[in-house]
Amino acid sequence: MDTPRAVVVGGGVLGTMHALEACRRGWEVVHLEADAGPRRASVRNFGLVWVSGRAGGPELDLAVRARQLWEELAVHSPAVGFRPDGSVTVARHEAELALMAEAAGRPDAAARGFELLDADGVRAVNPAVRGGLLGGLRCTRDAVVEPGLVLGALRVTLEATGRYTWLPRRQVVDVVTSSISSVAVDHLGGRHEGSVVVLCIGDRLSGLGGRVGPALAATSLRKCRLQMLQTAPAPERLTTALADADSMRYYPAFDLPGRAGLPEPSPTTSDWGMQLLLVQRAAGGLTIGDTHRYDEPFDFAVEEHPYDELVDRAEAVLGWALPPVVRRWAGVYTGTTDDRIYSRTTIDPGVVVVTGAAGRGMTLSPAIAEETWEVLTR
Ligand SMILES: Cc1cc2nc3c(=O)[nH]c(=O)nc-3n(C[C@H](O)[C@H](O)[C@H](O)COP(=O)(O)OP(=O)(O)OC[C@H]3O[C@@H](n4cnc5c(N)ncnc54)[C@H](O)[C@@H]3O)c2cc1C
Repeated sequence: MDTPRAVVVGGGVLGTMHALEACRRGWEVVHLEADAGPRRASVRNFGLVWVSGRAGGPELDLAVRARQLWEELAVHSPAVGFRPDGSVTVARHEAELALMAEAAGRPDAAARGFELLDADGVRAVNPAVRGGLLGGLRCTRDAVVEPGLVLGALRVTLEATGRYTWLPRRQVVDVVTSSISSVAVDHLGGRHEGSVVVLCIGDRLSGLGGRVGPALAATSLRKCRLQMLQTAPAPERLTTALADADSMRYYPAFDLPGRAGLPEPSPTTSDWGMQLLLVQRAAGGLTIGDTHRYDEPFDFAVEEHPYDELVDRAEAVLGWALPPVVRRWAGVYTGTTDDRIYSRTTIDPGVVVVTGAAGRGMTLSPAIAEETWEVLTR
């Protein structure tokens, strides 16, 4: 029997995980990417495999499964840089600590590895944290990967199968289906045939014609733009990722009665939808963010003002001056506007568009790919 062939469109983390899952199942894969190399959300993120904040139920289950898959695939692709470091969300106000205590009492707290810490406990877990704080919430299930390395590392693993073809600089403009196969047509007129076509196009929602464009336009999706920065290598190792209590305003795990008691956010926090997340890269620099803006068209420039507050907050938590900022950038992700965890739109049998995982796409990508292949091969 001939080896079945899949065409995967989009070289971001979702496309790459779908390619990986197809190869794992013995398929041949042709993988197309519009740019010379993937340069969008999948390489601009924190690399947080973030279990702690997920909504209870299916979203948490998917995140827990995804974390397990990340850990497994890091065995074959160690260059993804998986580190099971966990995280600490720090409290600097009694009401923040009270909400953390409530979260630590959730029935699913053990699945998240939640542990409520006093100030000494935070410092014992992460000695680099020496700012004034009351305590924190540890999540032992959170982890980190290296966004700048993940995609390349996974492609090396894919190429080793001998069943994988990577085609950058090929923008797919249409997908044509017949009763036996589907053909992805690229902007140079190249035709890529497979029994399955999976389009993981991230935030490029308007680049496809034929039946795909209108189907996507009818799907409940919206884009979000975030600002980020990175410092030079820090003088010491941070043993966990860090978040501040503003993160509890956004993550559904903290949608508990105590959330109403959180102190008033600063004007910059409200205006920019800001929270502090801080992750140390394997090479020592600190990736720090973020902001959330939804009104399109997005600014083409990054704004200095929220960066000032992010740096102040990071220094207040750490209790020491940050190394110089060496990089600033913005990134855009696509999320759903309804209660779906992500969006999988079937265009034709065997042709699907997968996007909309929002700020959890890096985390969930291996488990989403697994679900897609279960749907496609049912
Ligand atoms: C600043 C920022 C921080 C984040 N932090 C985290 C985090 O720490 N943890 C987490 O879980 N998630 C995080 N996310 C979310 C996560 O990064 C995204 O959900 C995820 O990367 C989306 O992956 P993707 O493959 O769908 O999209 P993308 O990374 O956008 O990739 C899509 C790719 O498809 C290509 N493409 C599009 N259309 C075509 C076409 N027609 N033909 C060929 N190629 C095409 C694009 O060029 C692109 O390379 C963050 C996002 C941002 C922006």
